[in-house]
Amino acid sequence: METFDTIIVGLGAMGSATAYYLSQQQKVLGLEQFTVAHNLGSSHGETRAIREAYFEDPVYVPMVQRAYDNWSHLEKKAQTSLLKQVGGLMIGPRNSLVFRGAEKSAIEHNLSHEILDAQTIKQRFPFFSPRESMYAVWEPRAGVLFVEKCIEAYIKLAQEQGAQLHFSEEVLSWNATEDGVVVTTTKGKYRAKKLVLSAGAWMTNLFSALEKHLNVERLVQLWFNGSKDHHLCPVNIWEYANNCFFYSLPDIGEGIKIALHHSGQITTVQNLNRDICEKTDILPVQKLIKTYMPHVNPEVIKSSVCMYTNTPDGHFIIDNHPQHKNVWVVSPCSGHGFKFASVIGEIITSLITTNTTPFPLECFSIKRFSL
Ligand SMILES: Cc1cc2nc3c(=O)[nH]c(=O)nc-3n(C[C@H](O)[C@H](O)[C@H](O)COP(=O)(O)OP(=O)(O)OC[C@H]3O[C@@H](n4cnc5c(N)ncnc54)[C@H](O)[C@@H]3O)c2cc1C
Repeated sequence: METFDTIIVGLGAMGSATAYYLSQQQKVLGLEQFTVAHNLGSSHGETRAIREAYFEDPVYVPMVQRAYDNWSHLEKKAQTSLLKQVGGLMIGPRNSLVFRGAEKSAIEHNLSHEILDAQTIKQRFPFFSPRESMYAVWEPRAGVLFVEKCIEAYIKLAQEQGAQLHFSEEVLSWNATEDGVVVTTTKGKYRAKKLVLSAGAWMTNLFSALEKHLNVERLVQLWFNGSKDHHLCPVNIWEYANNCFFYSLPDIGEGIKIALHHSGQITTVQNLNRDICEKTDILPVQKLIKTYMPHVNPEVIKSSVCMYTNTPDGHFIIDNHPQHKNVWVVSPCSGHGFKFASVIGEIITSLITTNTTPFPLECFSIKRFSL
């Protein structure tokens, strides 16, 4: 049986980044059930937002700052453009999570930002039509990452560094041994000292105790044609009603992407409906467009179904398996993890090789689930 230092299960966002960092120091095997940068998981649809004034919690700010550096490093290594910075607007009423949270992170971490009222938003971004009671935190460093290209870059570089990455090979099970793990796939068995589980929405197939703590949410990404000014569109996230969110990302060639953030159907990977329903998927977004982005042509030009894997508190899991210290769990990411892949890959590598990281990981601990 071939033996590795570390086996990584799942080569999506977290797994590909981990393969890149870990293969600089170790003999790595990566196992992926589908193809490179496929469209069946959580990491497809051209773009993902990256933003610094993090409304979810200020604890993410130092991590996202490191992530920016690491994406820039990846662009240089891969000699390709992976990130377009266009600025960002976090929009909502004064007391909304999005506005209040973004302002809190900006102040706590001394980030460059401006507070805009509805009138100013309209003047500066004429394609938006916020309600009079809405405000925005403007942050200049927000942008979009080219999601599939990022994964392709990590995969290619990891392979060049010597990582063995197998595609179309599903992991069926893993067993902890005294000094490591044995992994069984559809094609064979492999041994390693450490195991990284970065299986995204499939995580509970490999770690069933998480089942009652995670849910898989179906989200639909829709693309529309904007007005001629829309190339100036920043990343924009709206809390349009209490705890109801949508966002749009700028047109990078295929149209403006608009989607709900949460409010999706809770499902399972096995039962995921990949068909688009006019009434439940498209109409709610068209209503939002009519109110808040009236210059967007409401005819859908492209669509794609994707999955969030949510924890109850919306934070990630980045931790050891509670019973097996050689096993690391690095997804799910509750629908906001992609931007962090470049730092999470580095963190896991550091934890595996030195047992240290400069980042506080308490809020990502698996202990919060009392497994
Ligand atoms: C519509 C949508 C919009 C989003 N927008 C943003 C955003 O703007 N900004 C942001 O930061 N984040 C965003 N996210 C969240 C982000 O994309 C995800 O958190 C992140 O991509 C998840 O990465 P992952 O590696 O955990 O999962 P994935 O990238 O899905 O990778 C998991 C991989 O594991 C493989 N796998 C699973 N089980 C097995 C097995 N048994 N054997 C072999 N392989 C296996 C899967 O095939 C898959 O490739 C969004 C997500 C969605 C769905």
